[in-house]
Amino acid sequence: MSISSPSTQQGEIYQNFIGGEWRSSRSRETFISTNPAHLSEVIGYYQMSVAADIDDAVEAAVHAQPAWAAVPAPERGEILLRTALLLEQEKEELAALMTREMGKILRETRGDVQTAIDVAKYVAGEGRRAEGETIPSAIPNKFNITVRQPIGIVGIITPWNFPMAIPAWKTFPALLAGNAVVLKPASDTPLLSLKLAEVLHKAGLPAGVLNVVTGPGGSLGDVLVSHPQVNMISLTGSTEVGRHVAEICGRDLRRCALELGGKNAVIVLEDADLDLAAASVTAGAFGTTGQRCTATSRVIVQKPVQQAFTDRLVAAAEKLRVGNGLDPEIDMGPLVNKGRVKAVHEYTEIGKLEGAKLILGGSPLTDDDYSAGAFYKPTIFTNVGPSMRIATEEIFGPFVSIVPVASYEEAIEVANSTEYGLSTALFTESTRYTFRAMRDIQSGLVYFNAPTTGAEIQMPFGGMKASGNGHRELGAGAVAEFSEIKSIFVSYPTRN
Ligand code: NAD
Repeated sequence: MSISSPSTQQGEIYQNFIGGEWRSSRSRETFISTNPAHLSEVIGYYQMSVAADIDDAVEAAVHAQPAWAAVPAPERGEILLRTALLLEQEKEELAALMTREMGKILRETRGDVQTAIDVAKYVAGEGRRAEGETIPSAIPNKFNITVRQPIGIVGIITPWNFPMAIPAWKTFPALLAGNAVVLKPASDTPLLSLKLAEVLHKAGLPAGVLNVVTGPGGSLGDVLVSHPQVNMISLTGSTEVGRHVAEICGRDLRRCALELGGKNAVIVLEDADLDLAAASVTAGAFGTTGQRCTATSRVIVQKPVQQAFTDRLVAAAEKLRVGNGLDPEIDMGPLVNKGRVKAVHEYTEIGKLEGAKLILGGSPLTDDDYSAGAFYKPTIFTNVGPSMRIATEEIFGPFVSIVPVASYEEAIEVANSTEYGLSTALFTESTRYTFRAMRDIQSGLVYFNAPTTGAEIQMPFGGMKASGNGHRELGAGAVAEFSEIKSIFVSYPTRN
């Protein structure tokens, strides 16, 4: 089978990838994705898919899955290794496409593609590692083992902020485990998921094992999530959508892994290295224009160092160069679309009304070249109360709320006081507070003297409370996440 690029085949019209073929939606309609740094630049026209397209994709997956599950796991891993090598060759091109599609700067989009490469290599090796355990039986002449088997058909739904990394870190372990996948990417960034399918098929993935369908989450997502032949849903997105998806899956007893929103805090204690803390908050809050689930959104600072820390943070944030992410001199790109500019600005207005003090930014950038895109100034509020909306709700933009506290105990109480529990960082030189915080912080990721945004693919990734539903992605458990465990008991009674 020869698969050629949808872009060379179709100009700027991209098709769905179903059953190993590029296919138009049955709706015959498309939607547009544009460059947020230059909104008049169209990146592509994508299929406005409908329920029948999801049905086609699921049917292709159901047809392909048994033969795929019969391929030895090491061989499935080889396909992922070849995928990694192909992605390495195309890294620069894919990174540039991603910057044009969603705005983050080239250094970050290269990192996004590199994450996909690293996950492919890591998961490829899992094809040759343990499939199950041998466990002693309590009964004589009995032998107990567990085996790992595919779940069947996995529906994967992804957000726009990591257009290749997140589709990859869900899809690769799902495939390695012997499942077939229907992937629905976010409508702001469908291109990199289609490219991922193209590369996987170049690497030898059989037709129908991965299918990509583009279109609106509200209508299409529900069809995929409630499809009777889909055995598992893996979603990364907002907590609101996660709750909705969990309700549908709960009703049908479908397995459902959710990675959701965050309101991540950095705690700065009075003995902290303030230069390091300010540099880390600058990176964690304004990197990816604050559009990371793990972005630093609150800084909880002990009062004796509040002013010294704030001065350093403002000085660092003022130096950030905002602009088109393709320019290597730029530190922070646009937000993903104009709607997000409006949403972030609403929080600036809310912060002012709540009585917090705006000390940097607080408005869209609209002069000269900025007028063509969706740009917002790095924004900092201080004197923020812990229960204000700007201190408790996910804003998903370049926006930091500084919350002063008196003590370590109060800092932990404030850090744990939101509904979320994804990522928290603590800056201190004290071993005592470091170990107490390891115990006390209620979040799935905890950093010491580092930004809230430093995930590594060999470490489990996920959140507590409303940041997820208890699953963990990446790390050594990534494949188990997409597997059924079967416990097998073999008796061999002796007759004499
Ligand atoms: P979103 O929830 O709006 O959309 C996520 C995906 O769900 C998209 O593909 C969307 O089309 C789809 N969707 C929307 N409505 C749906 C429905 N009713 N049924 C099924 N699918 C539906 O999120 P977003 O704006 O794309 O991404 C930003 C959010 O994602 C933030 O809240 C962020 O914190 C979160 N996020 C979390 C992680 C994590 O690992 N915890 C990582 C990245 C982003």
